[in-house]
Order: sequence, then structure tokens, then C-alpha cells
Amino acid sequence: MSQYKHVALIGLGLLASSISLAMRRADMAARITGTARSKETQETALEIGLVDAVFDTAAEAVKGADLVILCVPVGVMGAIAEEIAPHLSEGCTVSDVGSVKRAVAEAIRPHMPDGVHLIPAHPMAGTEKSGPEAGFASLFDNRWLLITPLPESDHTAVKRLVDFWTTLGSNVEIMEIEHHDLVAAVISHTPHLIAYTMVGVADGMNRVAKTEVVNYSAAGFRDFTRIAASDPTMWRDVFLNNKDATLEVLGRFTEELFALQRAIRLGDGDFLFDYFTRTRDIRRSIIDAGQDTEAADFGRTKSEK
Ligand code: NAP
Repeated sequence: MSQYKHVALIGLGLLASSISLAMRRADMAARITGTARSKETQETALEIGLVDAVFDTAAEAVKGADLVILCVPVGVMGAIAEEIAPHLSEGCTVSDVGSVKRAVAEAIRPHMPDGVHLIPAHPMAGTEKSGPEAGFASLFDNRWLLITPLPESDHTAVKRLVDFWTTLGSNVEIMEIEHHDLVAAVISHTPHLIAYTMVGVADGMNRVAKTEVVNYSAAGFRDFTRIAASDPTMWRDVFLNNKDATLEVLGRFTEELFALQRAIRLGDGDFLFDYFTRTRDIRRSIIDAGQDTEAADFGRTKSEK
């Protein structure tokens, strides 16, 4: 399977910079072009060698590319697709790394010209950091990359994209698009919302001083604050665009929370013990699957680099 010769990265933040670094690490020969919204990001990306050439507009950045990856917040994917459409090469693949798939596919699809392959994708890898200097080459190593092809997606083009992500270190899975959004709501979107809420609660508690929240923060709360420090634009767009699945999972979450609340009120220690035993098993399974380690600081060392 031939590799891509020219990859255009639209948006040059955490995901795009990690793609570029992982491509370089794998000695992919492809030319990399890119664009970002601000001059500052454009200049940094060029300076640190993420791209061979940077452009002021996405339209210019995609010219001649055989793979275009949209690495921008979910809410602007449609506008960018519209902008680049007339400049895409015949036969090129347009993909993305957006955390939501149905809404993104619907936003991009109407703009895609005949002869261009639209193949949405989502790396299940990330950190709370943003920007061109946040990326690292190993971000995708042994992490899952979910590809959600559309009914019209060309098999050869899908296979080529699978090979690309495998070379970057990912395990690749093909998933039905609606199912992706539900899975993402369970394992990523709702947990983020809960972390945002808990940090918001601590911030709004006027009987506990802000200095106490900061100085005495326990490990669990610190983990919540790390998640709740994620990019506000990205996460606003995720919730606005994965509304149904997030609301479904939140409904389930609230029911469970009430059950735990009731057990605490009634002093039902057995219920709490059994519940926490079940959740501990999930943690064990994640470690056994190689998706985390026992080390208490897993992931942070890299993201704090
Ligand atoms: P990021 O670090 O904040 O980077 C976003 C990039 O998009 C920046 O370069 C920004 O430019 C650019 N951008 C924003 N609006 C733009 C516009 N209108 N036109 C052109 N460029 C624009 O974000 P990220 O974490 O890489 O996330 C990118 C995508 O990956 C999102 O769709 C997100 O849902 C998805 N994702 C993120 C994670 C994660 O953990 N972060 C994981 C999986 C998937 P400026 O720097 O100039 O503002």
C-alpha cells in the first residue's frame, strides 16, 4: 500500500503536532503542509518543524495533498470543508480527528466534491494540553483509532488510512458512526462533564475557601482538575455536537448517583462495597488490556513535558 505523498494538517494543535511528530518518527517521506487560525501558531509550527510549509488559509494548505486531516474544533469542521472543497485534488482522502463523528460527517459531507474520499476518524488519545507545542510522537502508541466510514467510503481509501494510522502507532478499529458517538459519550464526553462539574462545585462552595481547595487537593480532585483544564472551545463543541448520546449517558449517570446517594443516606454499606468492587474490576481490565499502568502518574509525565 503506497503511503501518502502530501499530508495537509488543518489546525496545528495537540493532535496535528502529534501526527506530524509520529509521521517523522516513522520516517514517512510525505510533505506536510498546514494552517492554523493565528499567525502565532502558524509561525511556531514552522519554527519547530511540524510542517514543511505553512499557509494563511486552509484552501492554500490543501493544494496538491493526497491526505487532508482536519484537526480543528468540531464546530468549525463544516466551514473549513466548504472552504477547502474547490481546492481538493481528485482522489484525495479527507479525514478528521474530531471527538464526535455523526455531526462532523454531516457538516463535511455536503461540501465534498465527487472523486474525494471522506473518511471520518477519531484517535482515542489525547491530553488536556493544547497548541502546536503540546504534541508528542508517542501519543497514538497502542491507543485505539476509530474509523467510522460512510456507506459510500471507498474500501481501498479506507485501507490506506488504516495503514497510515497503524504506522503512527495506533490500533485501528472500524466502527459504526452512531455507536462511536455513544461509546465516546460513555468513556470520554460524560466523564469530562462530571470533572467540570466537580471542579465547578468546589469553586462555588462558599463554606470552603479557595485556598483550601487548592492547597489540600486530594489525588482524586487533582485528577478532576487536570481533566477540567481541557480546552473550553473543544469541549463546548463536543457537547453541542454529541447532544443525544451525552444526555442519554447523563440520564443513566444521574440514576446511579441517586442510588449511591440513597445507599449513603440509608447506611447501606453492602451496596457501596459491591458497587466499588465492580468499578475496581473495570480499572483492573483497563490495566490488563495495556491501556493504562499501575503507575499513579501515567500519562502526566508525557503531557507535562
Ligand atoms: P488544539 O490543540 O486546541 O488545536 C486546535 C487547532 O485548530 C489550533 O491550531 C487552532 O488554531 C486551530 N483552529 C481553531 N479554529 C480554527 C479555524 N476556524 N480555522 C483554522 N484553524 C482553527 O486542539 P486539539 O486538542 O488538537 O483538538 C483538535 C481536534 O481533535 C478537535 O476536534 C478535538 O475534538 C479532537 N480530539 C482532541 C483530543 C484531545 O485530547 N485534545 C483527543 C481526540 C480528539 P490557533 O492555535 O491559531 O487557535
